[in-house]
Order: sequence, then C-alpha cells, then structure tokens
Amino acid sequence: MSNLRKKLIAGNWKMNTSRSEAIQLASNVIADSLPKEGAELLICVPLVHLADIGKLTANTHIKLGAQDGHWESNGAFTGEVSVSMLKDYQVDYLLVGHSERREMFADDDARVAKKFAAALKNGITPILCIGESLEQREQGVTLEVLQTQVKAVIDEVGIEAFSDAAIAYEPIWAIGTGRTATPEQAQEVHFELRRWLAEYNPEIADGIQILYGGSMNAANADELLSQNDIDGGLIGGASLKAEDFLTIYSFAG
Ligand code: PEP
Repeated sequence: MSNLRKKLIAGNWKMNTSRSEAIQLASNVIADSLPKEGAELLICVPLVHLADIGKLTANTHIKLGAQDGHWESNGAFTGEVSVSMLKDYQVDYLLVGHSERREMFADDDARVAKKFAAALKNGITPILCIGESLEQREQGVTLEVLQTQVKAVIDEVGIEAFSDAAIAYEPIWAIGTGRTATPEQAQEVHFELRRWLAEYNPEIADGIQILYGGSMNAANADELLSQNDIDGGLIGGASLKAEDFLTIYSFAG
C-alpha cells in the first residue's frame, strides 16, 4: 500500500491544566514549532479552555480539539456540552470513545457512534479511539475487539464517513501506565486493522490516519512513528510538556 498519509501528532491534555497553565502550554507549543508538510499538530484541551486556546491557535498551524461532546444539539442534559456548541469555538477535532470515557463514563459503542456522527454533522473531524484490555490481549482477541468497536460506528455512519475521520489505536494496558506497545506490536495491529478496513473500502483504508496511543513519549516516539502503518500519536502525559510534545513532533513527517 502507498503511504501518502500525513502524520497527526495529537495531544490529549485530559483533565489537566489551570487556565494560566493551559495558556502557557499552548503558547509554548505554538511558539516553538513550525508547520511541516508531512505532519500536523493538534491539542485536545479541556472544554473550559477552548475559548482561550482557540484565540491562540487561530491562524496558526496548530489544530484545536475537544475531548468529548454530546450528540444532541441541546436539551435537558445537565452538565453536558453538545458537539454543535463546540463548532462555535473553531474546534477541528473531537476525541470519541477514549477508553477513559468508555470505562468511567458509560460511553458504550452505541454512544460513541452517535458522537462520531454528531462530529461529522458539525464539520468536526472525529478521532475514534479503540483499544483492548490486557485480558483481551492475553486471550488473543485484540483484533475482534477493535473490529467490534469500529463496526459499531460503520453501522451508524457508513464506511465512506471515515474519509473525514481518524482512528487512534490505544491498548488500554498502555495508557498512562508507562508500558508501551512495542513498535512491532503496534504496527501489526495497525496493519491488520487497515487490511480489515480495506475489505469495506480500499481507498478509505489506504487514506485513513491510524494513530497509536499509549505512553508514547520523547524516547519511544521515533521508532513508533517510523512504522509504515502508524500515522501519528495520541499523546497524554507527554503532551503536557511542550518540549516533550514537540520532540515527538520532530520525529513525524
Ligand atoms: C491518551 O490519553 O490517550 C494516552 C495515550 O495517554 P498516555 O500517553 O499518558 O498513555
């Protein structure tokens, strides 16, 4: 398969940073990086910081992302923020189905599919996060688990919708644990996933960015990002230090 895919280096700040820390971190990322032909930089910030950070990223090479959003446009959903509200903040990307949301906030496949569809409807690129638990990996059912997670979304929106989306493969056992999948383990999963997607639509499979996530850092990113089917990273902990995040970016594209 040809590989003309741009690398996407995406930071997931999770529930971190005060307002001033967020402004400082985003300012450093902007000031200390340059646009590249073969790679893009994205920061997925806490919802309350979207307005501040959006002002900083506007007209720069840095894309802005949110970490969650409700599929309904509005209504009696106390505490929620809708995907359509995010549109007003020039949000480019939305994480959907992150394992922390699946585990702690009841985001099952059906809800994830609705969020994915809502993002597309609002002109926001969804990043569908998928991943297996350690138990599932040890049982040898990794691919089946991932296929079930992706198929729930394909059934909702159709495979063609994935031309405006990305996937992040994040083995749950590697998130926030310091335990990274080896480049070979990750490459194998990405390759198999792409091959499976090609059964639906070879062009979509060839073009879609499949990011790796799970303790990617400045020390291991080079090898991970050199794999043919790893099209970027979704980075938690290491995205909270501009220097580490941009070291990862330096290996992309
Ligand atoms: C993530 O938040 O998606 C993630 C991969 O976190 P970390 O890099 O900290 O493992």
